[in-house]
Amino acid sequence: MSAGFRRAKIVSTIGPGTRKPDVFRGLVEAGTDAVRINFAHTSQADAAETVELVAETARETGRPIATIGDLGGPKIRVGDLPETTLEIAPQDTYWFVPEGEDPPDACDVEHLIPTTYPQLADEVEPGNRILLDDGHFEFVVENGDTKERWVAAKAYSSGTLKSQKGINLPGVRVGAPPLTDKDRDDIAWANEHHLDYLALSFVRQLSDLETARGVMDKGSLLIAKIEKSQALNAMADILPESDGVMVARGDLGVELPYEEVPMIQKRIIRLAQERARPVITATQMLESMIDSPRPTRAEVSDVANALLDGTDAVMLSAETAIGDYPIEAVKTMDRVIRRIEHERIGRTGRAGKQIRGHSQIQQTTSGAIAAASMQAVDRLDSPFIVTFTRSGYTARIVSAQRPAVPIMGITDQWRTFNQMALVWGVQPVLFRGDPNYKSMLERAREAALELGLGETGQRFVVTAGVPFHVPGTTNMMRVEEL
Ligand code: PEP
Repeated sequence: MSAGFRRAKIVSTIGPGTRKPDVFRGLVEAGTDAVRINFAHTSQADAAETVELVAETARETGRPIATIGDLGGPKIRVGDLPETTLEIAPQDTYWFVPEGEDPPDACDVEHLIPTTYPQLADEVEPGNRILLDDGHFEFVVENGDTKERWVAAKAYSSGTLKSQKGINLPGVRVGAPPLTDKDRDDIAWANEHHLDYLALSFVRQLSDLETARGVMDKGSLLIAKIEKSQALNAMADILPESDGVMVARGDLGVELPYEEVPMIQKRIIRLAQERARPVITATQMLESMIDSPRPTRAEVSDVANALLDGTDAVMLSAETAIGDYPIEAVKTMDRVIRRIEHERIGRTGRAGKQIRGHSQIQQTTSGAIAAASMQAVDRLDSPFIVTFTRSGYTARIVSAQRPAVPIMGITDQWRTFNQMALVWGVQPVLFRGDPNYKSMLERAREAALELGLGETGQRFVVTAGVPFHVPGTTNMMRVEEL
């Protein structure tokens, strides 16, 4: 088995610090498998630079790199404050007023908080909490006027509030549409630039995903960001409609009490793996590395625990977007992942947590074939598994079984090649030519020797869906010899 093979994947958010050819190349060489363009903070012109860097680096290194366009979504924000900043005094009453509208007479400029959400007064009730800036500021609604569209709320925190900070309304059913005009524009841009994944923020229900699908390019995969309690309650609907999920711990820990997040993370990862949906664990994983070359021990443990929970990928946000040590942060992720995977394989003969029980996938033809291929790998001591896949589906199904051996995902589709970079345990391999069994098998043998996955004479397991051009069917398993 290839000792150098890492199974869990690393997502790096690209920002001003990493949108430079040499730093970007360093990020990829350190182990970045997927790059995230955060449209909440990235212009389309900057996103185009990132896409160009990805193409250039992929050409030079031959490595698959997945691109994820993370849509800003219907995030409610503080508008532009009259004085740029505002001192919040505890016990004072502040007025939340739609940007550009007149405040009530009782409100002076020191107590005015403009918002980007005109419906706020319709949706909150006295007693509801309004949290600003990731929960740094807490207010409790006293009263409001739906006609005048203001909400009065008492402050329970102090500090300096800045313009454009996020607003969270825990427990409030926010009626904002799932896609803003800006999201629609960013999706059109992503379609044009063939991004591999789109991540949808603040998913609340199945219809949010359907709305996004309706305007997305069909070849792009949809990641549901789980960051609201409504989404947690609707996981059974959301998971089948998504192609992957993100445990978006930043907003999740504001929308819900932060002590709930660790168990929620475990639950989302388990449910996603049961459905063979790749899952990314995100936010503040190596936060101190924004300005320090070494992580804290607690951060290392957090990354390790996400891996032990069974996550497909771990994500870096500000660490790589604006941090001083982006390459060191990716190297740290790489070290931690390898150490944990070494431990698991040593103890269990499986590289990841095995999902047992009545998972829906296990009772499908694809699931049965994937499970059978695991048995065959064990019995034959196969050094790797090969999947022939056009959409990446077969590779995802096999990945959900968490085999200890690498999964070679061979595809004739450039986009699938890159999409598989995000999937746990999958080594994507590009095939050029007529995609028939014989020629793909030849490519598998060649790639296995090239990548050092096995030695001549060893047997390996092949799974595929035939006919090859029909996506979403895994119905064949064979044993071949290298
Ligand atoms: C999060 O909230 O954890 C997250 C990933 O979303 P964003 O960074 O887009 O706010």
